[in-house]
Amino acid sequence: MMSRFSKVTPEGSYVPPPPANAKASYATMLFVRADIVRNSGGVLSKAATIAVRYAAVRRQTAPGPGQRELQVLDYQNVANTLIGLVGSAYACWFMGLEMQARYQRFEADRDKGVFSDLPELHALSSGLKATCTGTTADGIEAARRCCGGHGYSALSGLPRLFASYVQNVTWEGDNNVLYLQTARYLLKALAAGQSGKPVGGSAAYLGQLQQELRSSCSARGADCWGNPALALAALRHRAARLAVSGAATLQAASSGARAPLKFEGPAWNSSTVSQIAMAKAHTEMVLLQTFMDTLQQARDAGSLSPPVLAVLGRLCCLFGLGLVEAGSGDLLEAGWMTGEQAAAARTQHRALLAALRPEAVGLVDAFGWEDYALNSALGRQDGDVYKALLDMATVSPLNRTQQGPAWESVLKPVLHRKPLPKL
Ligand SMILES: Cc1cc2nc3c(=O)[nH]c(=O)nc-3n(C[C@H](O)[C@H](O)[C@H](O)COP(=O)(O)OP(=O)(O)OC[C@H]3O[C@@H](n4cnc5c(N)ncnc54)[C@H](O)[C@@H]3O)c2cc1C
Repeated sequence: MMSRFSKVTPEGSYVPPPPANAKASYATMLFVRADIVRNSGGVLSKAATIAVRYAAVRRQTAPGPGQRELQVLDYQNVANTLIGLVGSAYACWFMGLEMQARYQRFEADRDKGVFSDLPELHALSSGLKATCTGTTADGIEAARRCCGGHGYSALSGLPRLFASYVQNVTWEGDNNVLYLQTARYLLKALAAGQSGKPVGGSAAYLGQLQQELRSSCSARGADCWGNPALALAALRHRAARLAVSGAATLQAASSGARAPLKFEGPAWNSSTVSQIAMAKAHTEMVLLQTFMDTLQQARDAGSLSPPVLAVLGRLCCLFGLGLVEAGSGDLLEAGWMTGEQAAAARTQHRALLAALRPEAVGLVDAFGWEDYALNSALGRQDGDVYKALLDMATVSPLNRTQQGPAWESVLKPVLHRKPLPKL
């Protein structure tokens, strides 16, 4: 049973797949990682749906005397977190669809004995599993915090979502260890490019390194950052720079400039912080590229209306600019952009937040989660949050009696005990 390529004998000995099929045994691992990427978008979209809906209902602090309190989603800091999460959820969702399509292509190739895409798919599925699960685990907690005290309540659904998700950063390969697998692939691609060999796939920019390193930011003001292609150029440059510095760090630790790179042992261990940063930067670039490609495919196919595409285009741009802002230290250090250009990117990001604020509820409704799937008093589609909190609290076993379930058997005998006679 389930032993198409390898076997365990009745005596308990493992028989590996025949050499011709050795690579095929990667299939299950690739499938599971592709599925974890797909699932990350689904789970993050649930957290974003709950928190955005609640933030549109919850009001706090009137802006002036006699005025109505603001919806908390109207605070720029809340919008920054929550609309940022909506962008990440769409990015992971589209990435999951793409990973599954790539896995299906791999299976078709495998059945013809073709394994040329395997190294790229292995490297991508490792790094993307790490980035997407990390984003989702952190994102659920960020969504919970945006819901204030009610986010902490089990009735929000967010603590349960976090507790049932967070193991994804550990299982099927700890995220750091997976980033290091992607890093090895990227360093080999960089070395191949430097020795004149062709480099394809997502690491193609490492095959045109000199051209990439000569490039610089073309932005003349905030409007230029309204095109996600510029954010993509920034993320590609950052990934290239981090690959170069990761390789230099490893080269220095591998006993000298001409020694072969050491991908294990003390040399490798002394460079893993750089290698993880490089792999993460690469996957962030791939996520933005995939978001842009998905929208382009929808545009070409006419499968989404122009107004919907316009909103998703702004969300895509916001997602890219969020990554650029987080990685701006690397880009400024590399001299790719000036401080003024970094400030212009921030200005565009904040303008997009304001432009996307009226779309936030529609963007989460579009995920299509039913109330039963969210199982959250805060994330209800009808927005009747406070009644839902009361209803859910009313049916709690803790509230079945006025005193609570432990009163008769535990508390009452203690609290109503007759005082002991004084000796
Ligand atoms: C809920 C859950 C369910 C699981 N289910 C299964 C299952 O069904 N089947 C199964 O086989 N396993 C399962 N696992 C195990 C899981 O795959 C491992 O826990 C995971 O691969 C991490 O390995 P570890 O626990 O040995 O961590 P460790 O390897 O001890 O990691 C500890 C720390 O050291 C770091 N580290 C470790 N090695 C390196 C390295 N080489 N370079 C740099 N840093 C390193 C890690 O980043 C981490 O921070 C499950 C785990 C969990 C949490």
